[in-house]
Amino acid sequence: SEALLEVKNLKKYFHLKKDQTVKSVDDISFYIRKGETFGLVGESGSGKSTLGKTIVGLQAPSSGSILYNNQDFGKLDSKKRKIANKEMQIIFQDPHASLNPRMRVGDIIAEGIDAFKLAKGAERQNRIYELLEKVGLNPTHAKRYPHEFSGGQRQRIGIARALAVQPKFIVADEPISALDVSIQAQVINLLDDLKTQEGLTYLFIAHDLGMVKHISDRIGVMYLGKMMELSDSHELFVHPLHPYTQALLSAIPVANPKAVKRERIVLGGDPPSPVNPPQGCRFSTRCPHAMEICSQASPEWKEVQPNHWTACHLYN
Ligand code: SF4
Ligand code: MG
Repeated sequence: SEALLEVKNLKKYFHLKKDQTVKSVDDISFYIRKGETFGLVGESGSGKSTLGKTIVGLQAPSSGSILYNNQDFGKLDSKKRKIANKEMQIIFQDPHASLNPRMRVGDIIAEGIDAFKLAKGAERQNRIYELLEKVGLNPTHAKRYPHEFSGGQRQRIGIARALAVQPKFIVADEPISALDVSIQAQVINLLDDLKTQEGLTYLFIAHDLGMVKHISDRIGVMYLGKMMELSDSHELFVHPLHPYTQALLSAIPVANPKAVKRERIVLGGDPPSPVNPPQGCRFSTRCPHAMEICSQASPEWKEVQPNHWTACHLYN
């Protein structure tokens, strides 16, 4: 199939004490096409980071499957799994926390090169220099330590580290959320350029729709562990189907409010706790369109229009 990555009925549950279960990722199925940027959006606690980490193999799924290049990740032999692990990398939200403060930048960038024994000596050193240049830093930076860099530069170091093993697929987990607004666009542009140069596919995680709008080919919207809607980026902004997506969109300021008639939909309350979430539709406690059935039965995830998926009883 055209999918580089496919997730089928994926669940990731965390069991707390007293029979409490956090259903961080609860029965999610979707795929990411080769070469696309897939934007994944949701409030904090929606499970988007957990989904990203599970996809790249940082944690095992509770159930369901992850297919990479049409191969079931869980069924790969150790050699093939090692290759897949190398090809799937992650860039973290907080470039400060994810870089070891006691390691020199060159060694941080070479972590994957060393782990997979890709190069040593002069070749390793040259790779480090190339990677620094690729992300807009200077080769002399290899000798320095993370604290000597700004937030934006540290995120560039994190990107260089991910690129070091020549990945095919990158999960970018809110890579610009911790950065000053003034440098967010620079990092986005860098990621976009690298995508073309390196032939990458991205899962780009963000907490707000506006952030992923211009870079995503398709977008998925998560709420309390469930995928609520998924479609082409443009389609999602023009014809949002799910009431939650509609509310998120209504909160984005528009450049010309007179030309775009969009009424602000204000949601009541905060998202409920992901521990023992609402029965039926997870959004039912806040949805302006909630009906009786919504708190009783989970809406089915289905393709309501070609390539446009949603889970909502309004479309049954
Ligand atoms: Fe609202 Fe019901 Fe649709 Fe959930 S299923 S989004 S509660 S209308
Ligand atoms: Mg997160």
